[in-house]
Amino acid sequence: MSAVPDTAISEDTIAALATAVGGPVVVIRLSGPRALAVAGAVWRGAAPLARPPFRQMRLGQVVGAGGVLDHAALAVAMPGPHSYTGEDVVELHCHGGSFGARRILHELLRCGARLAEPGEFTRRAFLNGRLDLTQAEAVADLIDAHSDAALHLANHQLAGALGRRVSAAWEAAAGVLAEIESRLDFPEEDLDWQSGTALAARLEGVIADLTALLASRLEGQVLRDGVSLVIAGPPNVGKSSLLNAILGRDRAIVTDLPGTTRDTLEELAHIRGIPLHLVDTAGLRPSHDPIEAMGIERSFRSLRTAQVILWVFDASQPYAEQSWDPHSGRGAVILVGNKRDRLADPAALPALPATGLPVVTTCALDGSGLEALFDAIEAAVWGGPRHECSAVAVSARHAALLEESLSELLDTAARCRGEAWELAAVALRAALAGLGRITGRTHDPDLLGMIFSRFCIGK
Ligand code: GDP
Repeated sequence: MSAVPDTAISEDTIAALATAVGGPVVVIRLSGPRALAVAGAVWRGAAPLARPPFRQMRLGQVVGAGGVLDHAALAVAMPGPHSYTGEDVVELHCHGGSFGARRILHELLRCGARLAEPGEFTRRAFLNGRLDLTQAEAVADLIDAHSDAALHLANHQLAGALGRRVSAAWEAAAGVLAEIESRLDFPEEDLDWQSGTALAARLEGVIADLTALLASRLEGQVLRDGVSLVIAGPPNVGKSSLLNAILGRDRAIVTDLPGTTRDTLEELAHIRGIPLHLVDTAGLRPSHDPIEAMGIERSFRSLRTAQVILWVFDASQPYAEQSWDPHSGRGAVILVGNKRDRLADPAALPALPATGLPVVTTCALDGSGLEALFDAIEAAVWGGPRHECSAVAVSARHAALLEESLSELLDTAARCRGEAWELAAVALRAALAGLGRITGRTHDPDLLGMIFSRFCIGK
């Protein structure tokens, strides 16, 4: 369990480097009730930090005990509650260099701050109501984003697009619960109750919206986690050449000697906005060489976990001796007939048994056929072409909670129709708890620990 207190009011003041060590400028961040005092103890400028003008950069110096530090710096003071964390915040922007930055941080700790835990600034922002949990998660998504689509998604989530939809569903469901509870509390009264059917109809709207949200799960998973794509096949068919062609640079060693790639090679690439974890594997063939055999065993392991498999074969050779074994992996398979330049008609597919699998032909040397290969990869990932870029796509955590809540909401709607009010209330409370855990309306230290452990120190 985290040592970070789970209360909105923090008594201690935290400090951390907010930028990676080694850059030209380093930002040191402080937050807490003594942020202005602690920063003020090491800051010398025209006006003290605790006095206006706030939210403006001021030039001054960070000084330390013994006069060792005399570091030119910019400082900005942002008193709470209108700050990132909702507390008093100070940022010091100094010339980079890991030693100087650590020295300043050390000085701040000596003056009464404590080193922040990973994600503690954002955790405080959440506990002080500055962000909901989906927005806090978007802060981490923003740091991890490696594509325009992932960035777009993280920015929208940070702006509250997901949180608003879940909160609207929560409010609508809570309205129905109030009605049911009132029936349970005053069974004798003949108040102007809505019928069970009408309440169920109100829930149907919520169910439809949450179902649509859940349908964005694939997009969320692909854009956040990426897709593992394994390039496999017999030796010497051009797997490494294909990896290089996809990456647009020479990453893997290419030779005409079979068995050159003895280990799996991993690279990250983006194809049509899809983050792909590309794995080039050792050629699969019986081998007595112990090192090559270990590489082949790793290839089989990669195949078993791959989401997309490019099974590469030499299009100019008979397919039967190089055919894909459907027992090797469960991912979506694309048959890639490489070396198509050696075919009499490069556009003609080689004769293959009817497998039902998509087939493309490529020439890894000149890159021809790659666009068709990318079409096939896109279709394998999305289950069809994808044109739009959604504003909201849920993560695996959100999806699990949405599924749970949807099942409880469906149960509630059925109980409402049957006028089983007690059971309807139980199911609806469970649905609300699930939705509440998405936005953080309901939370506990374990949930927060799980979310903020993803963060780095200083965020
Ligand atoms: P791997 O063992 O399957 O990884 O195959 P490599 O990428 O190391 O390539 C084996 C040999 O085939 C090398 O000499 C490559 O230059 C050659 N090669 C790869 N792709 C093509 C292609 O599309 N056409 C032709 N003609 N040769 C290729």
